Amino acid sequence: MGHTYSAFRFFHSAFRIAAFAFAATAVAEPIRVALTFDDSLKDHLLIAAPMLEERGWRGTFCIVTDWIGKDERRLTWDDVRELISRGHEIATHTKSHQNLITLLNAGEEDEIRREIGESAAKIQQETGFAPRFMFSPFCCQNEITERICSELGLRQAGAPRYNFGSNNCDSVTTFVNELCKSGTVRADILQHGVSQADHGGWCAFADRESFRKHLDAIAELERQGKIIVTDYDGMVSDCALKAKAWPRHGVLSLSFDDASFGQWEAAFPLFAKYDARTTFFVIGTNRVDFMKKALAAGHEIGLHGFRHMDATPTVEERGEDWFWKTDIVPQLTELGKAGIPIRSYAYPNCRRTDRTDALFFSRGFARVRGTGKTFPPNPNPFDPKGDKLDKWRPVATADWLFIPAADFLKARLVPNVIMGEAYHTDIEDILRAMERAGDRGEALFIVSHGIARDAKGISMKTEWLERMLSSANDFGLLVRGIR
Ligand SMILES: [Zn+2]
Ligand SMILES: [Zn+2]
Repeated sequence: MGHTYSAFRFFHSAFRIAAFAFAATAVAEPIRVALTFDDSLKDHLLIAAPMLEERGWRGTFCIVTDWIGKDERRLTWDDVRELISRGHEIATHTKSHQNLITLLNAGEEDEIRREIGESAAKIQQETGFAPRFMFSPFCCQNEITERICSELGLRQAGAPRYNFGSNNCDSVTTFVNELCKSGTVRADILQHGVSQADHGGWCAFADRESFRKHLDAIAELERQGKIIVTDYDGMVSDCALKAKAWPRHGVLSLSFDDASFGQWEAAFPLFAKYDARTTFFVIGTNRVDFMKKALAAGHEIGLHGFRHMDATPTVEERGEDWFWKTDIVPQLTELGKAGIPIRSYAYPNCRRTDRTDALFFSRGFARVRGTGKTFPPNPNPFDPKGDKLDKWRPVATADWLFIPAADFLKARLVPNVIMGEAYHTDIEDILRAMERAGDRGEALFIVSHGIARDAKGISMKTEWLERMLSSANDFGLLVRGIR
């Protein structure tokens, strides 16, 4: 069998959980699968990350901070920042990889706190990114290590971990098929070395070809609808939602564009109150302080252009390279240096073409948000004077604004409807659209600009936002950004 050690370790408890889940759900829902990589190996950046990206996936890399830069086989901090800038998730795997239960048995609770806390702080200091999860060395953890994590503002990774690493390439297929029969809802597929058997501790893949075959087998399982690959945070979020609202569940994807940094920050407590997260698509580079606070609060930052250039006419008139060099590179470079992870881009004025999409995808962006000519016109056009009111359509009837929630983490081009008085937003209509997304298991994409009490023009009224966030749970909607 290809899965060893932790697979065996957790197999039986996984089946107990699974049997319960099966009784509660009659419809086969894809298992949410996170691909995790432990022990800070250089090959994770050089070999694993590009192979994941080729397949449209992002991994979760569990970092032992004392091992960073230790020798040429390990990641450096530049490498870790590179992984973040390419959209991957970083977690802590502690400071020096000690067995936390051994420390606990020796009465060294303070040492456990240092192992976890100093490692998370170091990651934040070096990258600007606060890790959300702690993966314990040797999977040795209990409710005391869990409590220490939560006191430090972290979550102890709790999903069953299944280690893969032999060159038995059928094993992940066999294994996932067994999990499917058991009705389990989530799985953490763990890898260590990905290029040579003696590389990266125990249970490494014999060579990169066998690792590639392992990923191909996972891709095939995803194509068959048995699993959805996501990062660890996405897996935990999706499963938390299903536990709450299954089978009535969908996603409200909220994003905010341009540069209303003060208003956005003032809304952080409102988002936090409803466990809602959003994406801020920012113009320029001069509010890195805001961006770090937003990341720490669980939100995401996306690009909206160094100078908010309209991509479609600019690419047509000046060419792709000029547009990229002028409006994307300056922003991407500065935010990269500041450790702000960027995966997505929102088109200024929503205007896009297949050509501009291809440009972003070919240069590493996971997702773009826009409308352009491919989609039917926005049901609520920009119309401050009310001249186009005959074009107004209820949002709930605009099918193209909704995608199946199961595709939420997959779709590379996502649409949006805009809220604000200048678009004649009817909040009751928005709530009906949210209800539809919950009923049908869809994702609905909404964008606005500023956020303020009784906001005018193109901004979101705080009172609308509060009604949407407080209703989302009733509709079975998880509120997230663009991801
Ligand atoms: Zn480890
Ligand atoms: Zn804009």
